[in-house]
Amino acid sequence: MARRKIIAGNWKMNKTPSEAVALVEELKPLVANEEVDVVFCVPAIDIVPVVEAAKGSNIQVGAENMYFEESGAYTGEISPAMLVDAGVKYVVLGHSERREYFGETNEDVNKKVLKAFEHNITPIMCCGETLEQREQGVTMDFIRQQVKVGFQNVTADQAKTAVIAYEPIWAIGTGKTATTEQAQEVCAGIRACIAEVYDEATAEAIRIQYGGSVNAATAPELFAQADIDGGLVGGASLKADFGKIVNYK
Ligand code: PEP
Repeated sequence: MARRKIIAGNWKMNKTPSEAVALVEELKPLVANEEVDVVFCVPAIDIVPVVEAAKGSNIQVGAENMYFEESGAYTGEISPAMLVDAGVKYVVLGHSERREYFGETNEDVNKKVLKAFEHNITPIMCCGETLEQREQGVTMDFIRQQVKVGFQNVTADQAKTAVIAYEPIWAIGTGKTATTEQAQEVCAGIRACIAEVYDEATAEAIRIQYGGSVNAATAPELFAQADIDGGLVGGASLKADFGKIVNYK
């Protein structure tokens, strides 16, 4: 069965609540494509107004992070139940910016992935190598470790519903997109890793996105690759260009 494409925007730390509503209103008609899953992953404070503004449209709302505890004395954190109650369906976990600036480890990401499944939130788990790792030829070893640890104790049934975003760190926010061949090669490698850890059926079902300076010009070729099931889009998700990416066909 063909996998449904998933095209998600990652707004990062951009847009105040009122700016967020204005952006949803602007993009709503431009992303109205029922053939793909369209997800806006937005800052925590924007979630409630964005869910409200997106009502009646095909836009699904995601968070950019989540804590792995249920509740309690964790000042500043957001729990999975809070996200669910606000109408969140997806959560980006282990983005390279969170790993780099906030010290998130593969083990932290794994705890969050498990907790997201417990609450029926679909994790978009990010992985990807640095330029140095690519040059050293250890890209796949590094990513396999991120995927294996990130998915520890995740069942095959859960993994089938998950999303993995392959985001080479050197391509994020730099304007440098991985070549179609590089992106396809790693996404195929991730699928092979899932087949090894689980089975072919799980590998066939899981959705793997490419992320890293995706724009309207690069999306069609990237998303046409056998193992690329859509994109995680940063900068271009804040502009009308996102409509063109969603309608890449
Ligand atoms: C991202 O934030 O996940 C991302 C891929 O950013 P950009 O598209 O701006 O490179």
